[in-house]
Amino acid sequence: MKTRAPLLHPTPAGLFCPEGDFHIDPVRPVPRALITHGHADHARAGHGAVLATRQTLDIMAIRYGADFAAQTQAAEGAILLGGVSVQFHPAGHVLGSAQIAVEGAGQRVVVSGDYTRTPNPACAPFEPVTCDIFVTEATFGLPVFRHPDPPLEIARLLSSMAAFPERPHLIGAYALGKAQRVIALLRAAGHDAPILIHGALAKLCAYHADEGIDLGDLLPATVERGRAPEGQVVVAPPSAFAATWVQRFRDPVIAHASGWMTVRARARQRGVELPLVISDHADWPELTETIRETGAGEVWVTHGREEALVRWCELAGIPARPLRLVGYEDEPE
Ligand SMILES: [Zn+2]
Repeated sequence: MKTRAPLLHPTPAGLFCPEGDFHIDPVRPVPRALITHGHADHARAGHGAVLATRQTLDIMAIRYGADFAAQTQAAEGAILLGGVSVQFHPAGHVLGSAQIAVEGAGQRVVVSGDYTRTPNPACAPFEPVTCDIFVTEATFGLPVFRHPDPPLEIARLLSSMAAFPERPHLIGAYALGKAQRVIALLRAAGHDAPILIHGALAKLCAYHADEGIDLGDLLPATVERGRAPEGQVVVAPPSAFAATWVQRFRDPVIAHASGWMTVRARARQRGVELPLVISDHADWPELTETIRETGAGEVWVTHGREEALVRWCELAGIPARPLRLVGYEDEPE
């Protein structure tokens, strides 16, 4: 069989496509960037031109200001760039998140960015795309990682609220994606009372509501010191828990929503009383099932725990390589 040069190759700035003259999720400023989603390690300010979904462009403008790039284009349908065609498909990770399919010379490469397969009421579901080369993350790329169904974790939260009605429940959740997912899951579980949010979440929550995500009644979590509201849910970014902000709540139940809460030592380290295993990244069964579903003849692993996933691919007869891309390790989760 004749081997073709892949359409993409790793560079220090990120994955580069010479035919189309663009980078995907570059970690340093480049002339043309295609961006999978709005998390800070994938979406950076300062590129020449940015092509991304309309929602990712909106999120970047909210976070960085309207002038985050010299030029922007919202991805819709297939777009020709140089000698290749690119198309964005939902990734189920956060609002606006997309996989990017790059196609040319009879080859299709899909760069999935970050993704999850469990239903996420805060964004469109992952859409499997058949391809020759599938580029995947491996944040939770070890067989030990098997995330529970998010509604089960929300049920644990509601049980705790019923058991301790006088204690406020403070939930640590990253500002883009996780916070809105937790709130939408609470609404789906029938929790109708107003939810208090930290000021750092206000703009992104308002944007999700504008985009039709049902977050219900949200109120600013501005309470007087020593006058903690009773029986309330408060959602805040994890950074708030290290600050004096948290001291205004009397005897709170500290919860944290993250795939990492599977690791009980991490929960203890953060002083988390109620760990909620809710992840916006694929767990081991989702990673391996997705690789099979794409029918890819080759797999590239961008970041995370690459070794085990590469080994699994090899045992499954799928050639695989770790890209060891740097700059994506601080993924909010
Ligand atoms: Zn992400």
